[in-house]
Amino acid sequence: MNKITVKNTIVEIDGDEMTRVMWKMVKDSLLLPYLDLKLSYYDLQLKKRDDTGDKITLEAAEAIKKFGVGVKCATITPNKDRVKEYNLKQEWPSPNGTIRAALDGTVFRAPILVKNIPPAVRSWKKPIHIGRHAYGDVYKNCEYRVPEPGKAEMTFTNVAGKELWRGTIQDFKGPGIIQGIHNTDKSISSFAKACFTYAYDQRLHLWLGAKDTISKTYDAQFRKIFEEEYQKTWKVKFEEAGLNYFFTLIDDAVARIMKTEGGMLWACKNYDGDVMSDMLGSAYGSLAMMTSVLVSPQGYYEFEASHGTVQKHYYKYQKGEKTSTNPMALIFAWTGCLKKRGELDQTPAVVEFAKMLEEAALETIESGIMTSDLMLVATPDPKNRQVYTEEFIAEVGNSLQKKLE
Ligand code: NAP
Ligand code: MG
Repeated sequence: MNKITVKNTIVEIDGDEMTRVMWKMVKDSLLLPYLDLKLSYYDLQLKKRDDTGDKITLEAAEAIKKFGVGVKCATITPNKDRVKEYNLKQEWPSPNGTIRAALDGTVFRAPILVKNIPPAVRSWKKPIHIGRHAYGDVYKNCEYRVPEPGKAEMTFTNVAGKELWRGTIQDFKGPGIIQGIHNTDKSISSFAKACFTYAYDQRLHLWLGAKDTISKTYDAQFRKIFEEEYQKTWKVKFEEAGLNYFFTLIDDAVARIMKTEGGMLWACKNYDGDVMSDMLGSAYGSLAMMTSVLVSPQGYYEFEASHGTVQKHYYKYQKGEKTSTNPMALIFAWTGCLKKRGELDQTPAVVEFAKMLEEAALETIESGIMTSDLMLVATPDPKNRQVYTEEFIAEVGNSLQKKLE
């Protein structure tokens, strides 16, 4: 069979543990036999980041800027245990954080729906996409453990050295805690642009939730910037497409989401997006049924799974035991990346291939063949059969082969 040529380069970012193992299986069985791929490869496994003083992570981000499209495996964000486990020089920062910052990107997540896994919320019929603002707030905080009574203040001094503002946080009568957080108009504005663009591309309504009744300056700024962006660039386009933009309080958004049928992009501030995407992921079946893409305002794309490296499964694998780990999100990271590459290169055959691979994967689960995480949540059926990781990938391969013939 002739291989399909993928015209331009894809940046491939390899990672750690069980996802690294599955990454190779997916490539070897589902991609390389069918595609002629040009890959710019960056190995971000923890040891390589340590050896290069984390330079490799920045290089990978630069490569995405150069080629436009990348796909990333999950990577370990080291903590104290990992420093010991891998004998690291230091606790390196999260590669995702580094790449996000370099691309000034917004992360969009969407569940992968299959017929035999009903969402935990009965009214949800369509995917709910989440757009998580990936800059600032508590993720770039300045915090302090207050040891004794005293006064906590916040000040702002301009570049000329003049103090423009001073406010009291709290007059402490005893020990406590304080935290300073920030965001920038530039980043919120990029976030708004990315959300409107994504929602319009995918024909989704756009929701934004924030707490501007309590946080009259901070959260209100998100509302203000989104409204300006909407009025300036999107109102007419949205109305023509039958789409709407809806701002509401974050708690109201949470309550309403439970009663909709889905089919919207939910723009979330950084922390809300972190928490809510995990809730959605498990409500739709499994963390492994959630895709993720980082979109930069310049139009660079990085596709990944939204779950981590599935550490516990990896330790089993290392002992020579077989695991039943779900590769769906990794497969969809590759298909998302191939679809975008094909779209940008104007090579419909590549897009077609990616869609076929997605269908093959979905149909495999719908036929009852699935990994352990889905057995617990799938509609009970005598046909359901739990398989090992490599068996699942082989079944997807068989189904893909039939489609291609
Ligand atoms: P995780 O790897 O997502 O795993 C959490 C649990 O979810 C697993 O123990 C497993 O449950 C289940 N799970 C996740 N993915 C699965 C899959 N594909 N198939 C089946 N079950 C799956 O999160 P974590 O354990 O908190 O983190 C592990 C490592 O990943 C950490 O070092 C962290 O830094 C890193 N991480 C990386 C990224 C990223 O690169 N994008 C994101 C998050 C975390 P059971 O064990 O109960 O089967
Ligand atoms: Mg989270």
